[in-house]
Amino acid sequence: MSVGRSPTAGIASLPMDRLERVWAWGRADSAMSWVWRPTTVDGVRDVLALAASRGLGVGLRGAGCSYGDASLNAEGISLDLSRMTRVLDWDPATGVIRGEPGVTMRQLWQYVLEDGWWPPVVTGTMAITLGGAAGMNVHGKNAWKLGPIGDHLRSVDLLLASGEVVRCSRDERPDLFHAAIGGFGMLGCFTSLELQLERVHSGLIEIEAIPARGVREMFEVFEERLATADYLVGWVDTLARDHRLGRGLVHAAHHLPAGADRRAAQTLRPEHQELPSTLFGVVPKSLMWRFMRPLTNHAGVRLVNAAKYHLSARQGRFRYRQSHVGFHFLLDYVPDWKRAYGPGGLIQFQAFVPAAAAQATYTELLDRSHRAGVVPYLGVLKRHRPDPFWMTHGLDGWSLAMDFRVTRTTRGALWRHCSELARVVTAAGGRFYYAKDSTLAPDELGGYFDEERVRRFLALKRRLDPDTRWQTNLWRRVFGGR
Ligand SMILES: Cc1cc2nc3c(=O)[nH]c(=O)nc-3n(C[C@H](O)[C@H](O)[C@H](O)COP(=O)(O)OP(=O)(O)OC[C@H]3O[C@@H](n4cnc5c(N)ncnc54)[C@H](O)[C@@H]3O)c2cc1C
Repeated sequence: MSVGRSPTAGIASLPMDRLERVWAWGRADSAMSWVWRPTTVDGVRDVLALAASRGLGVGLRGAGCSYGDASLNAEGISLDLSRMTRVLDWDPATGVIRGEPGVTMRQLWQYVLEDGWWPPVVTGTMAITLGGAAGMNVHGKNAWKLGPIGDHLRSVDLLLASGEVVRCSRDERPDLFHAAIGGFGMLGCFTSLELQLERVHSGLIEIEAIPARGVREMFEVFEERLATADYLVGWVDTLARDHRLGRGLVHAAHHLPAGADRRAAQTLRPEHQELPSTLFGVVPKSLMWRFMRPLTNHAGVRLVNAAKYHLSARQGRFRYRQSHVGFHFLLDYVPDWKRAYGPGGLIQFQAFVPAAAAQATYTELLDRSHRAGVVPYLGVLKRHRPDPFWMTHGLDGWSLAMDFRVTRTTRGALWRHCSELARVVTAAGGRFYYAKDSTLAPDELGGYFDEERVRRFLALKRRLDPDTRWQTNLWRRVFGGR
């Protein structure tokens, strides 16, 4: 099976007005691709047929929210599903919804909330699409409790490289169901997805904020609440070191039981959820990243983090109610905040580590980063559980996500540093997540996926996609030569 670049001859005959620069979300990478944005399954088939006639690879793309190169396909076709946004079926009695792949999380919650439902798994941004969520099998702040989104997908329609659309579920083609969800767009294109939503009784959620003085304390705060909380997430002040290493703030959130919100009919309305468009009612939030930019360096982040930590430590534990959107999509508060990282953009390194080794491993990752002078500006801790999907990042353990600024001068050192961190993670029996990855090399693959798992996935791809029609930069980077 070839994973090489598309032949030049095929490219030469493609229309130049379709050639676009397509960006990785973190803006540390981009690719020139011929982009098609169909609105129907037939339109998707047409693009596939065009690619086949020219011998070109097709990279699937939802909203392009993967931090790295997962939805880039340099010098090939980028099949962008973001215009396939129809809700195909909705039953407010059961909370089962079927949608096209370009339906976003924003569209989804806006559609269902007033009927008393909420997506069981949401990510830090609501910009992602259903297709992209299934492609990566995304997780939320409740990953240890409800698992990844695949655990809530009832069935998917998958368009194969042959052009055939097949329905997959736990009963129908279960192998393909478990391989394609989390299969990073390498087995086919989801053309519709059926999701079981979660019942909610209010548009509000109750949150407890708990400061933690270091790594150990943060783990303890999580452990004490795993049995009772609905969501848990830890913000880590990555600039703090020595005895303060890993200090931060944990948010534990609980759904309100029926009857606890006397204004439920109002709080469940989408209007009650929207994030404000200005800061303090004055500054348009679209401008905020410009103010953040001068602070997005070691000194600035140290200052902001220290202020945030000390303010929350002084306040101590406290409880408040917030809208679902306000709690879940904190990262959407400041539009385009990634631009504060400057022209080189950012990458994320998210390390998944088995429970027994997690605390020591995260201490080492943070400590090594300080010693190397390659310090992440944001750290987020979550708890996870194993799941049955073939190429899963899920395990009985924890994940620490770290955002690193990229500049032209530090890029090489940063990639070497991430490679070192990857060795620490694989030695601890850990895993990585393609949605967040930018730096993994092929030889690091074997370290965290057992060979049998990779072999099985590649055998299925070879059978369903003998010409390697589905390709991305990530695929070529990590599986190149396999
Ligand atoms: C600010 C921010 C916060 C985030 N927080 C989280 C988080 O909390 N948890 C988490 O798990 N992730 C998180 N992510 C990552 C994000 O959820 C994933 O990268 C997700 O896959 C992005 O969805 P997308 O629609 O943008 O897909 P893209 O990034 O465009 O594509 C993702 C993958 O899916 C494939 N794909 C896209 N559409 C289809 C389709 N129709 N059929 C088959 N394959 C397809 C693509 O080829 C690619 O491999 C976050 C990202 C950002 C930017």
